[in-house]
Amino acid sequence: MTMHYISTRGAAQSSPTFTQILLGGLAPDGGLYLPQAYPQVSRAELDQWRSLANVSYADLAFAVLSKFIDDIPAADLKALVDKTYTAKVYCNGRVAAQAADITPLRWLEPGLGLLELSNGPTLAFKDMAMQLLGNLFEYVLDKRGEEINILGATSGDTGSAAEYAMRGKRGVRVFMLSPDGRMSAFQRAQMYSLQDANIYNIAVRGMFDDAQDIVKAVSNDAAFKAKYKIGAVNSINWARVAAQVVYYFKGYFAATSANDELVDFSVPSGNFGNICAGHVARMMGLPIGRLVMATNENDVLDEFFRTGVYRPRATAETRTTSSPSMDISKASNFERFVFDLVGRDPAVIRELWAKVDAGGSFDLSTTTHFSALPKFGFVSGKSCHADRLATIRRTFEQYGVMVDTHTADGLKVAGEQRRAGTPMLVLETALPAKFEETIVEALGRTPQRPAAMLGIENLPQRVEVIDVSVDAVKRFIELKVGA
Ligand SMILES: *Cc1c(COP(=O)(O)O)cnc(C)c1O
Repeated sequence: MTMHYISTRGAAQSSPTFTQILLGGLAPDGGLYLPQAYPQVSRAELDQWRSLANVSYADLAFAVLSKFIDDIPAADLKALVDKTYTAKVYCNGRVAAQAADITPLRWLEPGLGLLELSNGPTLAFKDMAMQLLGNLFEYVLDKRGEEINILGATSGDTGSAAEYAMRGKRGVRVFMLSPDGRMSAFQRAQMYSLQDANIYNIAVRGMFDDAQDIVKAVSNDAAFKAKYKIGAVNSINWARVAAQVVYYFKGYFAATSANDELVDFSVPSGNFGNICAGHVARMMGLPIGRLVMATNENDVLDEFFRTGVYRPRATAETRTTSSPSMDISKASNFERFVFDLVGRDPAVIRELWAKVDAGGSFDLSTTTHFSALPKFGFVSGKSCHADRLATIRRTFEQYGVMVDTHTADGLKVAGEQRRAGTPMLVLETALPAKFEETIVEALGRTPQRPAAMLGIENLPQRVEVIDVSVDAVKRFIELKVGA
């Protein structure tokens, strides 16, 4: 039976398969894609997957992803997954035996663990999904004899994860806009030192929002978009969510010895993509107790889970913090969860997001939807700069472990939500080496960098600096694609 996908806004249309939604973004009606029904994992399958998980992340990933992807022949999907989750890609100077684990679980103390997701090439968990996406894109484009030109804007993390995933992939070019002179020297070096012919770095003389506006303007030009096959790899991409479902299974098996135990997860959240994958895993039948959603000072989602009021902020109200990848005012994946919360009624989603899309808010506090919330296991909390510094210090003093600022947000909130008898796993979303400045502020010392990244600031860089101009970006793309 083929797995079909539906839109959260439910406009009548064909229900596409996985590869039909792989390269696209939003559904044509403006909604987000989800499986028509969540595939269920039986107890027997869980038992079987537990033995896979002990052996190989790639084998587990293939088992989980096969539930969502059934329009790629199994042998091909297996090869793509095996090529993605290798010790070589997830090494970062670790010894081979450790690296083979891909996402090792590190216990800080009994009942509190870090699931390490940031051993990929850009040192952040986004690699876990993006690396698979790169291989899936190449495979599908190759089959169809098509190509895609990925256009994006980044303030650092997402752009580099996308570039490292797409470098050298047949049929794919990446045009990544970044704000000139506004990223750290390390972030610039990570992106701009890539010499692959299919990766184009464009530094815009402006802010991140200027870069973002250019991407929107180019994508809204339907004729240009069609002619130059413009695509995106943003966080609403369903394949990215699906790839992230895997590590909840992996973490669960690593933390338990039998499939009737519960595990709680704490997730540093921004666009709600990572924790949405946890929700999907729970809906599939993985025995997750609580999903602890941690925000930083940008606490739109914490407010929702506490009060039932969803009040996205204006971009200008978004605060710049020391956990910058969580500085989000409007979480793009949140609509997926709310769709389930309101009993998968697309009419309700259309009504709620008519308000959101018009810059407004909605309030579910007095509805039966909000009283259904506990059933989904979500709880929440937030963290601020002082909390991050204190958590980084305490974690280093108590356990000798250095965590990055985002992981610190997750740890802080996890501390408030821990329950006796249920292990709590905090998802480690980046390595401290990416956020040196705050680590130095907290600990008075510089975090260690993986050997492969020592001195990358000295490598030759490849970047085109341009004015804030939609036309300039279009001309640049025309020139490179036309050639
Ligand atoms: C992207 C990111 C997050 C937030 O993840 P979402 O899936 O957007 O909720 C948290 N921490 C780090 C380091 C990130 O790069």
